Amino acid sequence: MESVAGLACTICGAQYEADEVAYVCPRHGDDGILDVVYDYNSVRASLTKQALAASQRRSIWRYLPLLPVDADLALRLAQGTPLGSVGWTPLYDASRLASSLGIRWLGVKDDTCEPTASFKDRASAIAAVKVREQGAEVITTASTGNAAAALAGMCAAVGQPNVIFVPRSAPEAKVAQLLAYGSTVLLVDGNYDQAFDLCLEVAREFGWYNRNTAYNPYMSEGKKTAALEVCEQLDWQPPDWIFVPVGDGCIIGGIHKGLQDLVALDWIDRVPRLAGVQAAGSSPLVDAWERGLEGWQMEPVEAHTVADSICAALPRDRNKALRAVRETDGVYVSVADEQILEAIPTLARECGVFAEPAGAAAYAGLVQAVESGIVRAEDSVVVLATGSGLKDITGAKKALRDKPLIVAPTLDSVRKALARTG
Ligand SMILES: *Cc1c(COP(=O)(O)O)cnc(C)c1O
Ligand SMILES: [Zn+2]
Repeated sequence: MESVAGLACTICGAQYEADEVAYVCPRHGDDGILDVVYDYNSVRASLTKQALAASQRRSIWRYLPLLPVDADLALRLAQGTPLGSVGWTPLYDASRLASSLGIRWLGVKDDTCEPTASFKDRASAIAAVKVREQGAEVITTASTGNAAAALAGMCAAVGQPNVIFVPRSAPEAKVAQLLAYGSTVLLVDGNYDQAFDLCLEVAREFGWYNRNTAYNPYMSEGKKTAALEVCEQLDWQPPDWIFVPVGDGCIIGGIHKGLQDLVALDWIDRVPRLAGVQAAGSSPLVDAWERGLEGWQMEPVEAHTVADSICAALPRDRNKALRAVRETDGVYVSVADEQILEAIPTLARECGVFAEPAGAAAYAGLVQAVESGIVRAEDSVVVLATGSGLKDITGAKKALRDKPLIVAPTLDSVRKALARTG
């Protein structure tokens, strides 16, 4: 926290002290999403590549000087709890997939193995520290499921009361996860966007700390840790591309922020191109990018997709999400639900990573980008696998044509069944 210089509005650039505004730029209201600004000289004084190489902290907390939290408090809360296990996820060398796609190298960043089984733990871990810093009694969020589960899990880890707003359409497994962690769960009879607005209103009314994606400027700071990790895991030689599934746009905005931090520190000399992947039925950012619109010019769409975690009518972090792709000479692509579903068994079989639909969407986007010549044979690519397949078994089942073989409990029956499969 010592290295945080302030907050800057993503629309007007106005700068504020960290304790001067709560969440958004007062001039721009809920649209005035803020960037966290660092004093990189101060970061450099306490974080070096050498220190990182020797660090025993195999979690996001290895990057503490680049995180907007009270370091002592964070370490105290993380000590011996799941909060201490967030991040530093594996980056697999997916050589079979790379050769079938015909590209030079493919890495799969596996966030299915986070403590609550999604990428959202990176942000919620920060939130679980922030609420203590602020001294609020309750923390709240609205979510399609994973941000909620992540917040619930991180709160359970440190004994923090929390209230979660989820749309009624959220997958059962995700709601079960919330209840298991002991959260107060409000199932909102409406969509995610309505749950989000309701959560903002309730938090204001009751003085709760608000984790809502985009609205809370610190969530992208948690999400940026994946970019820091990818670069460190590749010995500070970033890939040509990073493919990111995009709903609200907080992950892709965070990845961009992490890369900007590393450029400012002079730790990388080249920024990967960011590819944002949206589901065709929920692709307002693809549309805005193609038409050259700014975030504040975007209108809500009717959003429908099998990938519930990237279903967003009006992406909350649209300013950062558009900027991430524009400033890195990246692309936005949309993929049909069938392509997303197909990517689930492909990733599972060819790389051993079982992802939920949104978690496999980035890979589906890569397949399409290779087919359309956007990604070329000489390119190296990292794909984010953002959530576990166990989160949404109904989704996974839609993707599977194979059926289990039913056998009698005899050797003969097994022989016959195997013979039938060839
Ligand atoms: C939230 C989520 C995303 C999308 O992240 P945004 O910040 O909303 O763009 C992708 N995949 C999974 C599994 C998620 O939970
Ligand atoms: Zn502003």
